[in-house]
Amino acid sequence: MKEQQFSIGIDIGGTNTTIGLVRLDGKLVAKQNLNTSQYFDAHKFVDDIVFSVHKIMMENKIKHILGVGIGAPCGNMLEGTIEDAANLKFRGKTPLKQLMETELGIPVVVSNDANAAAYGEMIYGGAKGMKNVVMFTLGTGVGSGIIIDGKLLHGSNGFAGELGHAILIPYGRKCNCGNYGCLEMYASIRGIITTCIELFELWPDDEITQIPREILSPKTIAEAALRGSTIAIETYRKTGEWLGIALANAVTFSDPEAIFLTGGILNAGELLMKPTKESFEKNKLSFYKNNIPILRSQLNENDAAILGAAALVW
Ligand SMILES: [Zn+2]
Repeated sequence: MKEQQFSIGIDIGGTNTTIGLVRLDGKLVAKQNLNTSQYFDAHKFVDDIVFSVHKIMMENKIKHILGVGIGAPCGNMLEGTIEDAANLKFRGKTPLKQLMETELGIPVVVSNDANAAAYGEMIYGGAKGMKNVVMFTLGTGVGSGIIIDGKLLHGSNGFAGELGHAILIPYGRKCNCGNYGCLEMYASIRGIITTCIELFELWPDDEITQIPREILSPKTIAEAALRGSTIAIETYRKTGEWLGIALANAVTFSDPEAIFLTGGILNAGELLMKPTKESFEKNKLSFYKNNIPILRSQLNENDAAILGAAALVW
């Protein structure tokens, strides 16, 4: 019998890093987590990832893996580096590919985490069979991955698909990247909480103003909306309106067959999707006559980036 082939897919997020052992057919065999936000030193972070890779192989009695694929914020596929990721606490250029190949002795591929998620969706998820897809990851930050003619778009510097930092509101909220008004400041977890707090002033008697700020989250805001909180409903309406504009802009740029979204804030369901779709249809150019569906990722939120990163190795 032919021996099963495995690779490691790693999803580096601002909060969590997940290391997954993936079989060639897309089965995620095992996962391990690291708390990304506790690392201020890139070398310590790499050491702990390498340790986790060895551990996951040992625990699953895997002697050989084909390689490691990494989806990381500001991951540069051309150079194999992470550079000044807004949501990571270590700064500068981290030569992730080089450091890990030295430690592990197998090929390592680095890509943007949203690129990896888009790739995973195309190989194993709802975008199977599609060739033109834009994927938005709505998490701590906002990322995007663009697939054109079946290929991930990398660009001349390896940084194509940073639509989370496309400016949505001129002179808007200050972003970690240094600019103002980036999409990320409006359609991310933090963006939703900020929008909600900004609305306190308009409706000071709304029940949500009584919730301690440290408990405010997309989930608690969605729950308040279901109880009838005007601020909570308006928070999701505004978020959807902004997100819809960003998706319409993405269509003018690459004319996709579908747009995929992933991230916990989608758990708000129609509360977010209804205003998003309305804004998308309103702002989309009329000559895109075909209905471009906005779909939720069919892969588990964490798994999409892991599977995509692993698929980059094949
Ligand atoms: Zn930005």
